[in-house]
Amino acid sequence: TPRRTAVASVINRISSQQTIEFVDVPAQDYYSTNVFTKSVMKDRLPKTVFKSLVRTIDAGEKLDPEIADIVASAIKDWAMEKGATHYAHVFYPLTGATAEKHDSFLSPTSDGGTLSEFSGKQLCQGEPDGSSFPSGGIRVTSQARGYTIWDVTSPAYILENPNGTTLCIPTAFVSWTGEALDKKTPVLRSMQALNKQAQRILNIFGHEDGAFVASTAGPEQEYFLVDRNFYYARPDLLTAGRTLFGAKPPKGQEFDDHYFGAIPERVLAFMCEAERELFKLGIPVKTRHNEVAPGQFEVAPVFESANVAADHQQLMMLTLRKTAEKYGMACLLHEKPFAGVNGSGKHVNWSLGSSSQGNLLDPGDTPHENAQFLVFCAAVIRAVYKHQGLLRAVVASAGNDHRLGANEAPPAIISIFLGDQLADVFEQIKAGGASSSLPSGTLEVGVDVLPPLPKDAGDRNRTSPFAFTGNRFEFRAVGSNQSISGPLVAMNTIIAESIDYCATKIEESIASDPDGLNAAIQSLLSEVITECSPVIFNGDGYSEEWHKEAEKRGLLNLKTTADALPQLATPETIEMFANYGVLSERELESRLETYQEQYCMTVSVEASVALSLARTMIFPAAIRYQNELASTCANLKAVGYEFDTDTLDSMTALVKSLQDGIATLEHAINDVSATTPDEECRHCCDAILPSMLALRETVDKLEEVVADDIWPLPTYQEMLFIK
Ligand code: ADP
Ligand code: MG
Repeated sequence: TPRRTAVASVINRISSQQTIEFVDVPAQDYYSTNVFTKSVMKDRLPKTVFKSLVRTIDAGEKLDPEIADIVASAIKDWAMEKGATHYAHVFYPLTGATAEKHDSFLSPTSDGGTLSEFSGKQLCQGEPDGSSFPSGGIRVTSQARGYTIWDVTSPAYILENPNGTTLCIPTAFVSWTGEALDKKTPVLRSMQALNKQAQRILNIFGHEDGAFVASTAGPEQEYFLVDRNFYYARPDLLTAGRTLFGAKPPKGQEFDDHYFGAIPERVLAFMCEAERELFKLGIPVKTRHNEVAPGQFEVAPVFESANVAADHQQLMMLTLRKTAEKYGMACLLHEKPFAGVNGSGKHVNWSLGSSSQGNLLDPGDTPHENAQFLVFCAAVIRAVYKHQGLLRAVVASAGNDHRLGANEAPPAIISIFLGDQLADVFEQIKAGGASSSLPSGTLEVGVDVLPPLPKDAGDRNRTSPFAFTGNRFEFRAVGSNQSISGPLVAMNTIIAESIDYCATKIEESIASDPDGLNAAIQSLLSEVITECSPVIFNGDGYSEEWHKEAEKRGLLNLKTTADALPQLATPETIEMFANYGVLSERELESRLETYQEQYCMTVSVEASVALSLARTMIFPAAIRYQNELASTCANLKAVGYEFDTDTLDSMTALVKSLQDGIATLEHAINDVSATTPDEECRHCCDAILPSMLALRETVDKLEEVVADDIWPLPTYQEMLFIK
């Protein structure tokens, strides 16, 4: 069986890995060596050009087109010195993947030679033939013009390959009518919107320097590693990224002996190399450790500006996959590669800050600073309360459905964890807000009695989808395989809207009473917290009681992608995205359409793989074993022995149920009565997935009874524990 061959190959594996000598080249010497950093720019660009570029990068000023040629020529020289032969505009289509089109620096000349060229225009704008990327109806193939536009704020870098290197230029991808066809454009727009609103609060508190307030993101990535021999012996892993069958192993994660345990040697070697590659790209990877499930790991960088973090996250996923291959492994980024063991998420840590004010979600040392902190914090709480549906929708995918809403971390109900101290502060504000004479023990914001706020939220709650962790919020519902751009766009925009609301309220009251800042803040905070407190929950998010309680509080519980995606285009959401110039109605609807289509495609591919596996691998193995039992039975009978037919009977029943399961799934796949995208999603969710699950139940039972030497697929035990 392919399984036996895989096991033998793993056992006889000869390591071909090269050693990295960090003694010869210390880790810090690798850092950013392949990045066109500010310091490289400073060395290679005329001073005025450099300064103008930095103003665009740091302060969000418009790019001066005059300087493009000079920058292009400097980038080209730098890249060619590093062996680059090509340049690529890298963009981020709605598939969530990274796309690139390569062009050579060389152009033929009339005298039969060649010349290396790279103009400002080539740097700033490209025209990939992106007609086959999903655009959700924005762009029909006949007018397939899409442009890539240089994103100055995300540094250009060099991607190495054993046979040459490529200069990569991060770009936005828009249609010829200017509509965003990608995931980057809305991130940039949402950062602008957030900055604009945050400045108003800073102004209210007397900070008028105008330094750009950027959202910051630190994504923690979870992933699985399995030996490639197993990967290739599992058509489901190869095609669908997850196992569609597989009985629970005798030992799973019950012992908790993997979590934070010693990292296996091959894995550690892989991590060192992956991290070195990420270092070269200027991606500040910081932590690594084992995760809860056997074979599961995590890597996390230091946070960066949201736009750069999103690009770096895409590179991180590519690098993990590529490096795993070199070490004879496959890196699985799917949210739930193995049923019954922990799935993988991507915790997106989010905050906002500026070069002059620092992190705006850091509680300060003075009551004044704390009052400002509380306003930003209240804005986040309000945003999450008002837009739970949207937050749920931006993490909805076929893969993530196996985590969210499936008794795993975190639940599909969006709530906020504040930690006891901060929750207490808000409770007190709420209690005292309504009356003018504050009962004792009630907080008065902005005056000296405001106590020091928690500097470090010592208590941690792993079950909350959206948690305050001392100086940032952590959005834990994001899927491991997802681009973080969608979640960042949502967070930036809903919080911008909320900050706008808060700023307007405060501005209005101080306009009528210039000395009334403290009172204005006090009444705003208590109003927000009174309205939005249903979304605050500090308890166990997995528990049955919370589900009941959340329903009582009127919180949404959207269990599946089919339920959640429509939240992307509710009237309030459409209005908000349009108001802040982040996504037009058409752009938003195109996203809904694309993601619905992706969900259906993912489910159909999985269903076809399950069907074909069941037919061509499982069924043959089952009847071979059934035949063996039957002939044993017949032979024994022929020589006068009685054979207890229980085993044969139950085997026969399982084979029958396998045949039925195959027929039912096939029927569900072939049912094309759904006509609208909504109906198609529902059909996937309500008919195809349940048939796959029913089929799986039978197959997993078979795995437990069929003779081991016949079973064709590597088992969970083998994949998770043999390294
Ligand atoms: P934990 O597993 O305890 O959550 P990690 O160290 O694995 O902690 O990850 C925390 C992440 O939060 C890191 O990526 C870190 O850079 C990020 N982070 C810290 N401060 C901020 C901030 N102000 N904005 C965004 N992310 C932040
Ligand atoms: Mg975390």
